[in-house]
Amino acid sequence: MPRALVTGPTGQDGGYLLERLLHDGWEVHAVVREADHVPSSGADDVEWHVADLCRPGLLRGVVMEVQPDHLYNLAGVSSVAASWREPELTTQVNAAAVATLLEAAWSLQEQTGRQVRFLQAGSAEIFGQAEEVPQTELTPLRPVNPYGAAKAFAHQMVTVYRARGLHATNCVLYNHESPRRPESFVTRKITTGVARIVRGEQTDLVLGDLDVRRDWGWAPDFVDAMLRAARHDIPDDYLVATGEAHSVKEFVAAAFARVGVEDWRAYVRTDPAFVRPADPSLLVGDASKARDVLGWRPTKTFAEIVAAMVDADLAR
Ligand code: NDP
Repeated sequence: MPRALVTGPTGQDGGYLLERLLHDGWEVHAVVREADHVPSSGADDVEWHVADLCRPGLLRGVVMEVQPDHLYNLAGVSSVAASWREPELTTQVNAAAVATLLEAAWSLQEQTGRQVRFLQAGSAEIFGQAEEVPQTELTPLRPVNPYGAAKAFAHQMVTVYRARGLHATNCVLYNHESPRRPESFVTRKITTGVARIVRGEQTDLVLGDLDVRRDWGWAPDFVDAMLRAARHDIPDDYLVATGEAHSVKEFVAAAFARVGVEDWRAYVRTDPAFVRPADPSLLVGDASKARDVLGWRPTKTFAEIVAAMVDADLAR
């Protein structure tokens, strides 16, 4: 039975990835930063290991003990806002730990003579003040925040280890959402807010810049892209994106429309406190390579993603 090791298993993508790997018959190992972070349900089929990504010795020990065939690095300080609050932590988790994991995978491969595949969950924030729209795998890296800078380092380290002989692949992920997205992200803040307003538990929704536009996809589709990329014989870089940009305003309108409210402006306030210090230019990805080489396709439209999230929050 092939063996996978997953970091970030308690996150949005990590949960979907564990489910897919188990479904596909893999032996699944996962790394949590504290023992009490092991989920209380659905955890029995997974072998859990404890290693904070800020502790390189522990992290390396887990890789050497598990001896995975595939290593998926999904752990990360995943929000730009958090990276501004904690740039050093962001650098440790999103950049330095990637070097530790790559070196551990490389050492394991050298010691055992068996191929170890490495998949990095990268981010479109590496393009920052992007030179072109849409971006491709060839667009220069120009991050504008600590999150993007750390992910850019990780991206480049993956290419360095690939050149050294490791099957190391970058998936450069654009925003992707689901009912499992934490409420600290604007999309889920909107869908939970709409559900609470409908139930009379909240009167309004306070947001930042409504004109910001993003390329929003469906998280299970993005996990599917990561699996396809790791399983492809040739390691490479792949952009994973829908290729469509929508504004926060459009997201809000679609979420309220789902519950039959057309006049959404009556419920929405803006507050400059929620505006980012430096926002990237328009991040929209051209995923032609993932489509052509991996056969990957998004399965949900923008409207379907918003509807699925609102419906899940109403049902909760
Ligand atoms: P989440 O924020 O939902 O999950 C992050 C995961 O990383 C959690 O399991 C968290 O564990 C873990 N983690 C954070 N810090 C540490 C640490 N010090 N040691 C060990 N584990 C840690 O992220 P997503 O699932 O949304 O994203 C997965 C990856 O994809 C991330 O690397 C993210 O940066 C990247 N990405 C995501 C995008 C998106 O739109 N979702 C877009 C582009 C890139 P804990 O439960 O303990 O906090």
